[in-house]
Amino acid sequence: MKKSSHSVKHIILYLLAAVVVLMTTLIPSASQAVLAAPAALADTAQVMETADSLPEPATDTHADNSLSSGSVDRQIENKKLPSRVAIIVDDFGNNMRGTEEMFKLPVKITVAVMPFLSTSEKDARRAHELGLDVLVHLPMEPRQGKPEWLGPGAVLTKMSDAEVRQRVEAALDNVPFAIGINNHMGSKVTGDERVMGIVLAVCKERGLFFVDSHTNYRSVAGRMARELGLPPVENHIFLDDVHSVSHVAKQMKLVHERAMSQRYCVTIGHVGIQGKETAAGIRSGIAGMKDSVEFIGISELVRDEWKWNSQVTLP
Ligand SMILES: [Zn+2]
Repeated sequence: MKKSSHSVKHIILYLLAAVVVLMTTLIPSASQAVLAAPAALADTAQVMETADSLPEPATDTHADNSLSSGSVDRQIENKKLPSRVAIIVDDFGNNMRGTEEMFKLPVKITVAVMPFLSTSEKDARRAHELGLDVLVHLPMEPRQGKPEWLGPGAVLTKMSDAEVRQRVEAALDNVPFAIGINNHMGSKVTGDERVMGIVLAVCKERGLFFVDSHTNYRSVAGRMARELGLPPVENHIFLDDVHSVSHVAKQMKLVHERAMSQRYCVTIGHVGIQGKETAAGIRSGIAGMKDSVEFIGISELVRDEWKWNSQVTLP
């Protein structure tokens, strides 16, 4: 009796072991199958969302930490690009000193033209004919600085919504071939959500983008541009805050370093009283970096970094 109860125990143990083996082999595969379906659906949904958002750059596709497959591909794709530099030259439009020298630089620059001045149209047209990008260099109220430095048609924070809109639209209508706007002065306006909201809304309606010259480190322009699905492009380095050839050349070295470490750099110089010196400094800087970076227009930067497809039809 003892012996048979022992063998019954053995049989029960064998049965239990068999059940355990069956359960460990069957249940995980079953649960995997259940899990696999939503995962596959999620993947499809993600792919569709990425495809849907391609024509219009949505804010989340710009986030570097986005996990969507599209943005990972884009990061890999971006890593293959050579380091790039976009030089924007401000204050064209008033036959300023250095205009000729800037147009004769051996690389692509972006020409920012102030509206309503004696050579606004001429400078914009010439830039376009040379294959250069044109921005409207929109005068905007600074926190400090003389009002007469602003130039005609400036956007001020005391203006009503309708007045701000009218000023932005008039400036855009005055400068042909513009693909975007950047700010002349503007440390007060770029910190003002209401006024920047109107400026960016007009940009969006017209298929343009806004380049924040970054005269105000508390600027709201970048964040608001992201929220509207516009490329949050901004200036990184001013070239001629001190007006000498050697200073500009030194700043160009910083531009080079940033482009090499951050993949691209946006920099701003000026035509004007010291425009020839700035052009000479840029020219000497170009000679020292032309083998390791690519000089591009701002339109190429927003196209490649933020997948921004301008809908502007140029005349
Ligand atoms: Zn300016």
